[in-house]
Amino acid sequence: MKLNLIPKPNKLEELGGVRNLNDGELTLRRDETIPAEGYRLMLTADVALLEFSTDAGAFYGKQTLRQLRREDGTVPLVKIEDAPEFAWRGFMIDSSRHIQTLDEIKAFIEAAASFKCNVFHWHFCDDPGWRMESERYPLLNSVGSWRDGWGFNNPNPERYGGYFTKAQIRDLVQFCADRFITVVPEFDIPGHSSAVIKSYPWLSCTEEEVDVTTNAGVFSNVLCAGKDETFAFCEGVLEEIMELFPGKYIHIGGDEVPKDHWKACPKCQARIKAEGLKDAEELQGYFTKRIAAFLRSHGKTPIGWNEVLDAGMLPQDVVAAKWHDRRNLCDPFANAGGRIIMEETSNVYLDYDYRTTPLKKTYSYDLLPDSLTEEGKKNVLGVEAPIWTEWVETFDRMCYMCFPRLAAMAEVGWTKRERKDYEDFKRRIEAHRDALAALGVKMAPQSDWDPA
Ligand SMILES: [Zn+2]
Repeated sequence: MKLNLIPKPNKLEELGGVRNLNDGELTLRRDETIPAEGYRLMLTADVALLEFSTDAGAFYGKQTLRQLRREDGTVPLVKIEDAPEFAWRGFMIDSSRHIQTLDEIKAFIEAAASFKCNVFHWHFCDDPGWRMESERYPLLNSVGSWRDGWGFNNPNPERYGGYFTKAQIRDLVQFCADRFITVVPEFDIPGHSSAVIKSYPWLSCTEEEVDVTTNAGVFSNVLCAGKDETFAFCEGVLEEIMELFPGKYIHIGGDEVPKDHWKACPKCQARIKAEGLKDAEELQGYFTKRIAAFLRSHGKTPIGWNEVLDAGMLPQDVVAAKWHDRRNLCDPFANAGGRIIMEETSNVYLDYDYRTTPLKKTYSYDLLPDSLTEEGKKNVLGVEAPIWTEWVETFDRMCYMCFPRLAAMAEVGWTKRERKDYEDFKRRIEAHRDALAALGVKMAPQSDWDPA
């Protein structure tokens, strides 16, 4: 009987035969020589031993053991020595455009944890709605969490919205911590801010009323970078975010920021002049740097979508998420010492249908392209797959889009390149279908994975 482990362990020896393994029979032992997140699992007729140096490593060893266990309760005899290739194996959920329930998000996280993913990037605010409870800025919830219609571009006229309470968020963060998943909250600024500006119109350059959007796209309402009040607001929100999310990383967006309002705004123009900036592009550089400095003063590491590199003035400690690197700035950034996360539209945007991004394309994602120097390759933190929800209205649809492609991404992030094998992956992941379904996660049928 073949093993169905995902991600495939980096060193595995099948000894032949099986044994029973009852609760309490597994010996746990700490060994500081084992890498962080790594584990050694030895199952022989006489020995059942799991070794690790960190609690995360113990968790991953147990996940492997769970996947090894057969229906009759036996486990195959194996020697496994395993540790991830990349420290960052993430997934992003967009809860702004369409909202999931807390239980749905937990089911998704449970599935992702079973494949040893370790980062949940939560995109909880965007033009179509604000989803985090704010006590300091309550209009974000009473106004910014609601829009006139669900669905996109041709919305159903029912009012749509809601948000996650602080109690729910704390519960979710703990749920993730129990599975060694760090939650990275994203406060997407200064663009994608229609819901924020609807709540507090004085944050924009024009101070005009806008709608919480019901269209997909990029909108010209952005936060005014000329007003100090904007920074005070952003810092206030970030303080609330930091109270809820204890992780080291905070994502500050920075993607798709149209500059037309900034070009026409006297306050933005005054800022450009006062700071000696060249243009509106550099004003975004200033914005990112100022927010990054605030986060750094709180011991946090900022992450931004790759547009934060456009102004060419980013401090190296800001991590860049490579999603659509039009100007080809991520590779030189990494080669010069900056850290990047690989999440390109071409391979891991899981809202793209299987015709655009077949499973094989996700599985073949090369995280260390030749455009990186040896130094640059060391600065690739890992991989992350976003699921954007303009066209993903239900949880079943989300699971269809993400499974098995998220499992493929998990193997890309964990398993050494030379150990990967696509045909074998397809066989192994199919064996997980029932276990995923038991979590409420329905995987796409095999016939849809690689359309002709
Ligand atoms: Zn302005």
